Amino acid sequence: MKPVIALVGRPNVGKSTLFNRLTKSRDAIVADFAGLTRDRHYGQGKQGKHEYIVIDTGGFEPDASSGIFKEMAKQTQQAVAEADVVVFVVDARAGVSAQDHDIAKYLRRLGKPCLLIANKAEGMLEGAQLTEFYELGLGQVHPVSAAHGQGMRGLVELALEPL
Ligand code: GDP
Ligand code: MG
Repeated sequence: MKPVIALVGRPNVGKSTLFNRLTKSRDAIVADFAGLTRDRHYGQGKQGKHEYIVIDTGGFEPDASSGIFKEMAKQTQQAVAEADVVVFVVDARAGVSAQDHDIAKYLRRLGKPCLLIANKAEGMLEGAQLTEFYELGLGQVHPVSAAHGQGMRGLVELALEPL
């Protein structure tokens, strides 16, 4: 069985762009607006000697009547349950949001191996501006730019390391 990697994060952080990068396909719908990819989406990829399956999770639309956990239960939670490793994607440019904190809390309780990725970090790969993401309590944050293909080398190996 190939290891399964679930991409999790709030809408618009670049999960589908990262999915395309990791699967060398453009199957996932990349949206310029939040929440278009509504269903879980599977792809296969290979990086170095590692073969894997990636799950792209659609955006959830948090609103007053449905909290983040309800939405995650519907869409993301199942992907996370299927996954061996969770890659939690945050937006390096937007900084930490309340939603990021909610997702981090959920993932910390889940106790599965989790890799924290700060996307849209082109031009800031040194990580000086990324220290605030440590407050999510998920350890080191790894800057990448899925759109520009930066910071991708060794990413899968790092994600699969705890297995
Ligand atoms: P998702 O909702 O998390 O799946 O995010 P998408 O992959 O649909 O991307 C949302 C937006 O962020 C799109 O406009 C992408 O072009 C943009 N985006 C994705 N990756 C990067 C990146 O590395 N850098 C920048 N600047 N923009 C990105
Ligand atoms: Mg998407």
